[in-house]
Amino acid sequence: MAPDLGGIQSAIAGVQWPPIVKADNAQLVALVHWLERSQWLDVAALQAGQLSQLAIFLRHFERQSPWLQQRAGLHRCTVGQLCQSLEAFRQFPVTTRADVQRAGTNFHSRVVPPAHKPTAPKKTSGSTGEPVMVYRTAVNQLFWLATTLREHLWHGRDSKGRLAIVRANLPEAFDLPAWGSPVGDLFESGPFYGVPVTTDTSALVAWLRLKQPQYLLIYPGVWHAVLYQLQGKPDLPGLVQVRTIGETLSDALRSQTRDKLGITIADTYSSEEVGVIAIECPHSGLYHTMAEGLIVEVLRPDGQPCKAGEVGRVVVTDLLNFASPLVRYDIGDYAEPGPVCGCGRGLPTLKRVLGRQRGMVKLPDGRSHWPLTGFRDFSSVANITQYQLVQKSMMHRFDYQFAYYPTHIPKPASGKFEEFVCEI
Ligand SMILES: [Zn+2]
Repeated sequence: MAPDLGGIQSAIAGVQWPPIVKADNAQLVALVHWLERSQWLDVAALQAGQLSQLAIFLRHFERQSPWLQQRAGLHRCTVGQLCQSLEAFRQFPVTTRADVQRAGTNFHSRVVPPAHKPTAPKKTSGSTGEPVMVYRTAVNQLFWLATTLREHLWHGRDSKGRLAIVRANLPEAFDLPAWGSPVGDLFESGPFYGVPVTTDTSALVAWLRLKQPQYLLIYPGVWHAVLYQLQGKPDLPGLVQVRTIGETLSDALRSQTRDKLGITIADTYSSEEVGVIAIECPHSGLYHTMAEGLIVEVLRPDGQPCKAGEVGRVVVTDLLNFASPLVRYDIGDYAEPGPVCGCGRGLPTLKRVLGRQRGMVKLPDGRSHWPLTGFRDFSSVANITQYQLVQKSMMHRFDYQFAYYPTHIPKPASGKFEEFVCEI
């Protein structure tokens, strides 16, 4: 059964209908219900909501972030002016990762409102290999759970199916009887399997054939390698859908998946700093932005908004994060804005997203796996503002040489920075 909200499980013994959830889950369920309605609001109503929240958000940081105070003063912006319209808001300059690096502790809120606690630090390298640290709050976590659930609802997945995930942050493989949060907390769900993304490709293929998942969550680069190894005889008859995250998904990979396995890919655009940014619409393939929590802009080099058909940089304002002021934050990705979606949802769209790309590490015995760069530990060695790892040769022993760039690492002709490049 597809996990529509009517299928939520009751947590009260003896009461099955209507379902009454645990108090712990009540905020999440209420928010998801609200999002189910707000997605149908028209653009004007969504923008009005964003502007009212923007005023509260900016007033908070005007008091709490020395960095924002100084920046607004420097550019003669007042909160009152900035909140007049989304056009007026563009007077506030774009925040780069280098700005966040330079601001240090002055960037973050001195006091986070109690209802937004606890906060958690997030170190991220983004798409450009420039490490930054931001704090995310309990409200961000709640919105992340709600938008994750929204993605499952849109795609009408059967929560009783077997779910397999291949991810970067897993210390080891696991087998669990039920899906993780949020689906497993609210719905009856099927078995849940996970394996670290650094597992070599042939072992991944064997694992998938053993687990026979209905749904697979994976990075596009790893899925590409797996799909190549599956050639000829996939032996994954139950696989219904692949879900991709974390990197740019190419049209070629979508069509190869369709041709080889007869199934679709559902892609989600997210980042460590702001969570889910946009979800692929099951009706049109456009990506709907999560306008109830984020203002997502796509800008030309001159700072003006891109028109249809133009690709520009993605700039995001996280209206719900009261710990770190991600105000017109240049996330390092590029996108093309999309048209109004035929599904009827008022949430704005992106036609395509050009984000992170990462090559696979090749080993002398022919195996390959997704690289972990270990960037979280770089700051303990030196004040590194940007990094890139390049595999130059096949080797049995780890051998390396450093190249130092005083400002930033030059981009390749394609213009798309890769934090790990395999040159063999
Ligand atoms: Zn749509």
